[in-house]
Amino acid sequence: MHPTLERLLTDKPVIIDGAWGTQFQLLGLGSGESPDLWNLSHPDRVLKVAKGYVDAGSQVIISNTFGSNRYTLQKAGGDPDQVFEINKAGAAISRQACEGTDCLVFASMGPSGEILMMGQVTEDDLFEAFKVQAEGLAAGGADGIVIETMSCPTEASAAVRAAKTTGLPVVASMTFDSGKNKDRTMMGATPEKAAKALLAAGADILGSNCGKGIEGFIPVCQRLHDASGLPVWIKANRGLPEIVDGVATYSQTPEQFASFAPALVAAGAGFLGGCCGTDPSVIAALVEWKKGNRQ
Ligand SMILES: [Zn+2]
Repeated sequence: MHPTLERLLTDKPVIIDGAWGTQFQLLGLGSGESPDLWNLSHPDRVLKVAKGYVDAGSQVIISNTFGSNRYTLQKAGGDPDQVFEINKAGAAISRQACEGTDCLVFASMGPSGEILMMGQVTEDDLFEAFKVQAEGLAAGGADGIVIETMSCPTEASAAVRAAKTTGLPVVASMTFDSGKNKDRTMMGATPEKAAKALLAAGADILGSNCGKGIEGFIPVCQRLHDASGLPVWIKANRGLPEIVDGVATYSQTPEQFASFAPALVAAGAGFLGGCCGTDPSVIAALVEWKKGNRQ
């Protein structure tokens, strides 16, 4: 195992961070606007979100670079020639937020939004695009890379291979939000199928994020653990949102969210955090649970 992961996992479960997008909305991000462009235009706001999670007790935070590949950036009105710069800035802001703490940065890479099966791009195109992104993240001081919210194992594998060229540890996290048991990706991949592809591509850790509430992650976590023999990275949504006045509202309390932590750890989770709807209060509840768990 990569020495960075080995060191982190001596203090299991590693508490990671929560959602970033909703935090940006609170700071004025308009719907449809790309938060990633803020790495250059409003670094102070990005730092505030990152620091919120460091202060809540996260041992690992991501970076504001989920959509900073050339395809997603371009669709959001960004300049695809700025991929390296935006990623470098995003990782550096998260690093700055961790200053004076032991918190590490596992910088974020999300899907391209292009569909391989439709022939919109080739695997080589994706590899090249993700490689520039990963190089920017490494230059900004990332301690690791997390490839997240992926639904296509082939795209995720291209991202893993690209991220691995930096020498950093790589987490590959898929979204299982489809099928009757919500145990398939949108593209129909099961945890076992995804695990096989991602491990072959060189992923150091497998994970799952987004797509459903925390309870539904328990069986998926177990299956990823069984398929890999590794501690699993889990970032669950805060229950199911209700739409109130056109805004997604999450009613699960931080304590309710954290009450599922023991079952996830029993199912092989080595990293625990939140996705949509979670905020620093949810992470603080996980930290509190972990402290109590140790006494
Ligand atoms: Zn999410």
